Amino acid sequence: MDLQGKNALVTGGGRGIGADTVRALAAAGAAVVASARSVQEIEALAEEIRQGGGKAWAVPCDVAEPEQVDALAEKAKQHLGQVDILVNNAGIAASAPLKRIALEDWNRIFAVNVTGTFLCTQAFLPEMVKRKWGRVINVASIAGLTGAAYISAYSASKHAVIGFTRCLAAEVAPSGVTVNAVCPGYVETGMVSESVARIVEKTGISLEKARGSIVDMNPQNRILEPEEVSYQIVSLCDSRARGVNGQTIVIDGGGLLS
Ligand code: NDP
Repeated sequence: MDLQGKNALVTGGGRGIGADTVRALAAAGAAVVASARSVQEIEALAEEIRQGGGKAWAVPCDVAEPEQVDALAEKAKQHLGQVDILVNNAGIAASAPLKRIALEDWNRIFAVNVTGTFLCTQAFLPEMVKRKWGRVINVASIAGLTGAAYISAYSASKHAVIGFTRCLAAEVAPSGVTVNAVCPGYVETGMVSESVARIVEKTGISLEKARGSIVDMNPQNRILEPEEVSYQIVSLCDSRARGVNGQTIVIDGGGLLS
């Protein structure tokens, strides 16, 4: 994969899937802005990439805050000149039965996962359309394609991200820009550690059993690695992927068969 000359921005790029995506894009030759709220994480990552001979910058931003997204767009342009690849990866998860979902938590999940994706896309997509080349990749989830007990807020937010992806793909298709979503099952990141801890806390089962219940959801009996997601993201950036538009790329070991 050769992304020399391309400029990318990854939200939620400080750890987990986002950090791996920043590394993978930089390894393919792209110049990358890594963004997240935790300044130390993105700065350390950008430094690691520069030490390895790549081009990377850290720009802090809470994607749920419109003014911060405006500032991110400004800074990204200063560093990169233009953004060709946007990876909307920043996301948060929570689980609870309906009656225990506080409105505040519902609103925050939508603010980060859905509004954050909208704001960042609105900040960068129009310029891609003008230049007739661009890639927007939204990190959704299999929870955006199917439902499961106790994750209604998260699942609804990821369904929204997928609806947004499909509509924009139709809107920009004539320009040559593509908009796609990747939909992973459980991936080995802090988000999964938090899910396991929540299961232990709520059910009283052991850590091992809680982790096992997540492993069992993947027919390959494992939790995915972040590189399996970042690989698909980088592949979508290749010029040979120009015909893939408005799709949901499922990465879950074969759990969701459609
Ligand atoms: P992590 O919790 O490991 O990392 C999340 C990243 O998003 C961090 O860099 C975090 O940094 C950033 N982030 C969180 N809130 C905001 C915000 N308001 N503004 C900007 N950045 C933010 O999660 P994962 O790597 O696991 O998840 C990444 C994406 O993948 C998410 O969209 C998630 O829903 C999706 N996903 C994850 C799966 C999994 O099993 N791990 C499965 C399917 C989808 P900071 O807190 O410093 O802002």
